Amino acid sequence: MSDPIVLFGGTFDPVHNGHLIAARAIAEQRGYRKMTLVPSARGPHKGPAAASDADRLKMLQLAIAGDNLFKISEIELQRPAPSYTYDTLREIRESCGDDRAIDLVIGADMLADMPNWYRADDVVKLARLVIAARPPWDQEAPQIASLLDERFGKCLSEGMIAGMCKTPLIDISSSEIRRRLGSGASIRYMVPDAVEQYIRARGLYA
Ligand code: ATP
Repeated sequence: MSDPIVLFGGTFDPVHNGHLIAARAIAEQRGYRKMTLVPSARGPHKGPAAASDADRLKMLQLAIAGDNLFKISEIELQRPAPSYTYDTLREIRESCGDDRAIDLVIGADMLADMPNWYRADDVVKLARLVIAARPPWDQEAPQIASLLDERFGKCLSEGMIAGMCKTPLIDISSSEIRRRLGSGASIRYMVPDAVEQYIRARGLYA
């Protein structure tokens, strides 16, 4: 059977080492050979990104340079905002056909909101969910299961989840990086060096 298409979406405003470490941990646990990072044009649940689409894309390219695990899809940047996961999945499903699995990585923290996503019932038919949970893992798992059972019914929710992955607790977020840059604090070791250099050269988030 062919490898699944694995999607890891985000605003990546900017991409940081927390994203990369989590994505690698998921790939290792699931045996993925490729993972597609999907920067959103503007998440329906977030305001406008602080950096332009082009800058966020460039930072992603710099971050993954030389790493064969990752590729980037511009599918959401090419559509008018807002970026709905349903539209992305439908477009990918149309181009890959019905036989290929699509695994959608979703942070356990996002799961509570997932039932409210645009066409959530169709989202879970188009893709299998891969839940990325941060410590304390054993506390989150039962909550996630019951939340999905409640929303989609036990039969459907059992088939929906391709897997649950444990990602390490890396306390880095894009918002913290933007805040630090705004206040002149260091972001060293939080983003790949090439990304920091790009941010500095372009004066982003200053
Ligand atoms: P912001 O601080 O602006 O909300 P963010 O750092 O959470 O941004 P996103 O681009 O929104 O970054 O995240 C994309 C995906 O990466 C989400 O599924 C999110 O759960 C996950 N993610 C973000 N930061 C981490 C981290 N430190 N460890 C593990 N996963 C992370």
